[in-house]
Amino acid sequence: MNKFTILLVEDEKTISDFTSRALTSHGYRVQCASSGKEALSLASSLCPDIMLLDLGLPDIDGMEIIQKLRTWSSCPIIVVSARTQENDKVQALDAGADDYLTKPFGTSELMARIRTSLRHSNRLNNGYNIPQHPYRAKDLEIDFFKRSITIAGQPIHLTPIEYKIVAFLAQNSGKVMTYSTVMNNVWGPYSESDNKILRVNMANIRRKLEKNPAEPVYIFTEVGVGYRMADDEEIQPF
Ligand code: CA
Repeated sequence: MNKFTILLVEDEKTISDFTSRALTSHGYRVQCASSGKEALSLASSLCPDIMLLDLGLPDIDGMEIIQKLRTWSSCPIIVVSARTQENDKVQALDAGADDYLTKPFGTSELMARIRTSLRHSNRLNNGYNIPQHPYRAKDLEIDFFKRSITIAGQPIHLTPIEYKIVAFLAQNSGKVMTYSTVMNNVWGPYSESDNKILRVNMANIRRKLEKNPAEPVYIFTEVGVGYRMADDEEIQPF
């Protein structure tokens, strides 16, 4: 099972340390940013599942971070701020934040908000009318809800980035996904235009998934174009 990654953006070290410990003890992977610049760069390189965002940062205003992020990412943003005025909440939500927590907050309240946001983003990623079902092709099975990948029932351990690449291709199985589409989806539009990082990740994915990485049966290369994942055998043709 792959842990969900939370990007914690907070410049006050005591709050950051406390929140980070609480999240880690609840099974989340946590990455901290203490400035807006760092937050935007990590949002792009780390592809977090949720961003917890303090509005009052030393360099960039939190509101501007939401606006910037929303031009390319649908990652759920939970704003965490000492600002209590209604106006700030409305502005943050209008700019694209998903939820709002006012400091001080309790751990159980924070966890409940995170669970809600994760459920919501899962639903969005899968479409409202499509039931969540695992992807299956030959011996490979991907459970998107559990984020588990197995081959013939044996768990396969992928890094969070590797998982995102495979899940994205599986959700578009049978279709050719260009290198830039995969890059944009996984790393965001600020990713390098060079696709070396994708090819390196794909080599690692193939070593883990394929019996013979030189003759893949799950993820095929369309030379000079991108990748195509084997058809999902679970999807019934209409
Ligand atoms: Ca602050």
